Amino acid sequence: MAGIYIHIPYCKTRCTYCDFYTITNESQIDAFVDALCKEGVMRKDELPETVHTIYFGGGTPSRLHQHHFEQIFHTLYNQYDIDAEVEITVEANPDDLTDEYIGMLAALPVNRLSIGIQSFDDEELRFLRRRHSAQQAFDVVTKCQEKGFNNISIDLMYGLPNQTLERWDKNLDQAIALHVQHISAYHLIYEEKTKMYSLLKAGKIKQVDEAISTAMFSMLIDRLTSDDFIHYEISAFGKEGCFSRHNTSYWHNKKYVGLGPAAHSYDGENRSFNIASLNRYIKGIESTSPERSHEQLSQNEKYNEFILTGLRTMWGINLTELRNKFGELYYEFCIQIAQKYLDQKLLLKDEDTLKLTREGIFISDGIMTDLMRV
Ligand code: SF4
Repeated sequence: MAGIYIHIPYCKTRCTYCDFYTITNESQIDAFVDALCKEGVMRKDELPETVHTIYFGGGTPSRLHQHHFEQIFHTLYNQYDIDAEVEITVEANPDDLTDEYIGMLAALPVNRLSIGIQSFDDEELRFLRRRHSAQQAFDVVTKCQEKGFNNISIDLMYGLPNQTLERWDKNLDQAIALHVQHISAYHLIYEEKTKMYSLLKAGKIKQVDEAISTAMFSMLIDRLTSDDFIHYEISAFGKEGCFSRHNTSYWHNKKYVGLGPAAHSYDGENRSFNIASLNRYIKGIESTSPERSHEQLSQNEKYNEFILTGLRTMWGINLTELRNKFGELYYEFCIQIAQKYLDQKLLLKDEDTLKLTREGIFISDGIMTDLMRV
């Protein structure tokens, strides 16, 4: 199982909470796609395996035009061994998804859409500086379904300042009513250098109360699992057979190549990071010396990633795999620290697997940090 991630750095405008590498000036978009395709050719030997997932993330991949997608697919299908059943996801924003655009995507090999809705409440959408209305989001998903997309994920955000449980419940009503196959729901994080963070620091907004946050997460799990969604990762819920194969392969430490500015790659052992600057990215590719930094992971870091990625999912950590990969010392360390959480029923041991319990999920960060080695 190997994947390709493609980072499209463009956004029409910036949302107040976002700290991703994105730019709003699209004047170089053709040069960017040329560079992206060149990078795909240059790096093909890094991925001789069959590619099972391709993921267009961003930024906003729905800023690309038809000819950009065609150019990218032409490159990928010529340079890589793409599985016949490949999962191809495109992240899209509702305001870009006109009838014509949805039709264009449906005619491409794209078979999964991830739509950044965030909220079905107009006031919340305005506060987040999203570019669509609640009705528009609802209609767009329906249109995508009518055009034949039967693997749709939507993103939601909760824990917004002043958001009440009742409002969150209404958001979930709308999400469930759409009968999508997958929902990712994230608690608002105040990332430094965002507008949202400045508002918080200036005292203009207040973080939602911790008890309400917890109740919102609890409501999310209850409502979605009652509607046959499987809670397979802390923030991800999928219908049977509709989990994100791309993200699941990240959590299972599978290899992937990341193309585009700020894209990350993982070769099964170490990570690398493309430069987070469009100009320097294009220049680097054109001069055939791309700017990419490499991170050699220590044994402790590899173990920590194994714990983090495993515990986030419903599959948990396989203890035999842990022992085989990292040896007796790491295995004993994990078992010893885990014991107190097993006693408190925050972790459970299911045969050879260590998993978070429903109660454990609420304090997962603390448990994972405790299980990590420094
Ligand atoms: S949240 Fe998405 S659409 Fe908004 S600025 Fe960030 S990447 Fe762009």
